Amino acid sequence: MLPGGRLENTVMEEDPIYPNRQGKSVYIETYGCQMNVSDSEMMTRVLKQAGYGVAADLEQADVILLNTCAVREHAEQRILGRVGQLAQCRVRKPHLLLGLCGCMAQHLRDRLLRQIPYLNLVVGPDGYRRLPELIARASEEAVIDVRLDRTEAYEDIAPVRADGVSAFVTIMRGCDKVCSFCIVPFVRGRERSLAPEAILADVRRLAASGVKEITYLGQTVNSYYHDETDFAGLLRRTEDIDGIERIRFMSPYPADMTDRAIEAMASCKKVCRHLHLPLQSASDPVLERMRRQYTVGEYRHLVRRLREAMPDLSLTTDIIVGFPGETEEDFRLTYDFLEEMRYDSAFLFKYSAREGTRAYRWGDILSEEEKNRRLEEIIALQERITVEANREWVGRIADVMVEGESRRSDSEWYGRTSQYKTVVFPRNGERPGEIVPVTIEEARTHTLVGRRAG
Ligand code: SF4
Repeated sequence: MLPGGRLENTVMEEDPIYPNRQGKSVYIETYGCQMNVSDSEMMTRVLKQAGYGVAADLEQADVILLNTCAVREHAEQRILGRVGQLAQCRVRKPHLLLGLCGCMAQHLRDRLLRQIPYLNLVVGPDGYRRLPELIARASEEAVIDVRLDRTEAYEDIAPVRADGVSAFVTIMRGCDKVCSFCIVPFVRGRERSLAPEAILADVRRLAASGVKEITYLGQTVNSYYHDETDFAGLLRRTEDIDGIERIRFMSPYPADMTDRAIEAMASCKKVCRHLHLPLQSASDPVLERMRRQYTVGEYRHLVRRLREAMPDLSLTTDIIVGFPGETEEDFRLTYDFLEEMRYDSAFLFKYSAREGTRAYRWGDILSEEEKNRRLEEIIALQERITVEANREWVGRIADVMVEGESRRSDSEWYGRTSQYKTVVFPRNGERPGEIVPVTIEEARTHTLVGRRAG
């Protein structure tokens, strides 16, 4: 999982606002992880098929949908604030409909309608197919649809994606792990994998439209299993698709990282040498209370196998500090483990108690002050390690896929290495999607700077 936050965009494709059957256009604002980005792309298709237009900005929308995140309390508070802001748009446009979709909608359900009287629509992650009829009803009365559906995978709906050389492809939905801190299984339901034929057809379409890199998404992406096809099998079949140059995936679950998956990763040239492998804690008692299905020793052994199979693999992770009952000694174990693993980077979080989870019942035991202290300490450590890991690239030649113009200068490209390192280098006739060799000359905290080799 990645941290909640508002993602730029929302306008999912180049279409202008166009008159449609209902004469309405929709604006989707997306928060949270890549899964939500992918869901917004799919929601856009559902709405377009029903004749809705895609609004270029908020001002022009008749319906505003916030696709939300519930992973952290802070994310929910921000979204509530945003809904309040958006309600002001009603002053100029009384017919404007306002809806909350996604994990927060599923988590807070009808409480949202009681709390926010001007909200018209609350739709959980399994209700998107019904969005057109729900929006139609919402103009009469507030509507809620938070049914979870064990079979809904939306595999017949081709997402409307933004132009670019990279695309997200959801291969599974939901999660069966039930980690004690996590709200995801309650808001996204049971695990379901999409049929490989549907996934591969989507990837072929993307390749034909110029996409060079795909990222497979799933809450525990490597648990993918459909009929006879497991995650390793899916990687191998994707490798054969012409036009796709790079294959990424996130986030794998450590205990489901099989030898077959490691072998497939290592032997498929297009599979990138980057793995985001969530650890959460390096204390066995904490891992047990978190209900993670591995020990620190097993995780360490897994990383050893991965690095033996792929010596150039970069590794990133998620850590939670301040989990209920985490002692100073537990925290030190995690701190020392980061030093041992030398992750290329890490998403480091303070524990956020989520109502409905098992850990919620244990209370938020540590003070904010203590959690902040631990978080700051571990962030400082990881920043140092990240810089050191980046410096190891100076003087080496990296294959960089050009993604677009650098933010700082239109005379520079930015792109990524297979290891997911961002590289900036001067433009010299390259095109987005091209993979070029770049000599790395400088390592900044989050970016490598270089020059085209040869
Ligand atoms: S594996 Fe655990 S942390 Fe990840 S989505 Fe499932 S329950 Fe949440």
